[in-house]
Amino acid sequence: MTFITRFAPSPTGPLHLGHAYSAMLAHDMARTAGGTFLLRIEDIDQSRARPHWEAQIHDDLHWLGLEWPTPVMRQSDRLPRYRQALELLIRLNLVYPCKCNRADIEAAAGAPQEGVPQFGPDGRIYPGTCLERPLSDAGPDDVLRLDIRKALAAAPSLRFVETGPTHTGTHVPAPEALIESVGDFVLVRRHMHSSYHLSVVVDDADQGITHVIRGEDLFDATAIHVLLQALLNLHTPIYHHHRLIRDERGKRLAKRDDARAIAKYREEGASPQDVRALVAL
Ligand code: GLU
Repeated sequence: MTFITRFAPSPTGPLHLGHAYSAMLAHDMARTAGGTFLLRIEDIDQSRARPHWEAQIHDDLHWLGLEWPTPVMRQSDRLPRYRQALELLIRLNLVYPCKCNRADIEAAAGAPQEGVPQFGPDGRIYPGTCLERPLSDAGPDDVLRLDIRKALAAAPSLRFVETGPTHTGTHVPAPEALIESVGDFVLVRRHMHSSYHLSVVVDDADQGITHVIRGEDLFDATAIHVLLQALLNLHTPIYHHHRLIRDERGKRLAKRDDARAIAKYREEGASPQDVRALVAL
C-alpha cells in the first residue's frame, strides 16, 4: 500500500516539542511503511508568516534527523489553485459573502443556550446573518463562507477512517451534527486568498497524501475537510490524530511557548535523542 504523509507547519513562530513529536511520528510511520514523508509550508496567512521562521523550520527538522524530498510545497505559491477550487464551490452555488466582524457575530448569536455549542473547529459558529447575500454583492473586506446546509445536501454521504489512538475506527459525520457544531465556515479569509480548511484539502490531494498524521486538536476539523473533499471530488486520506504534548500543568504547548522551542534545546546542547525521550517517542 502506498504511504505518503506530510508535516505542514505554519512559519509564524518557532517549532516546539509538540511539533517535534508530530513531525518525528509522521517521519517514523512513513519509514516503517516504506513510504514518503513530505514537508509543506503553510504560509497562506502572509500577514503572520516570516522567512526566518521558515528557515528555522528547515534547520530544526534537519537537526532532528528528518529528511524530505525537494522542492517543498509552499501555500503562498498556490493561490491560483485555491481559486480554482473555490470557483468549483461557487459553481455549485454553495458560497456567500459575509461582512460580519467578531462583534457582529457575537451580537447576532445572542445568549448561549444550554446544549447548543457556541464554538466549533472554525471558531464561533456563524448565525447566518449574511446567508442571503449574493456573491455579486461581495466587497473587498468580506470573507466567503460555505453554506453548510446546501453543501451537505450536495455531498450526502461522508466517511473517513481514523487510525489514531483516541478515535480509532470509521467515522460517519452526521449532517445535523455538522450544521450545529461547525456551521457556515470560512473558505476565504478577509484579505486572503483562501483559508486553512480549503488550502489543506487541496494541498493534501495534490500531494497525493494517503495518511494525514497530526494533533488530536484537529480531529473535529477533519469532518470539514472530508466534506470539502466530497464537494471537490478529491480523495479522502486515512487520518491519524495523535496525542498532544503538554506542559507540566497539562496545558498544550502554544506557538509562543519559546521555552520549549526545539531551537532552545538545540542551543542548550540537547541531542535529537534527548528530544525523542522528552516526548516519549
Ligand atoms: N498548519 C497547520 C498547523 O500548523 C497544519 C495542520 C494540519 O496538519 O492539517 O496546525
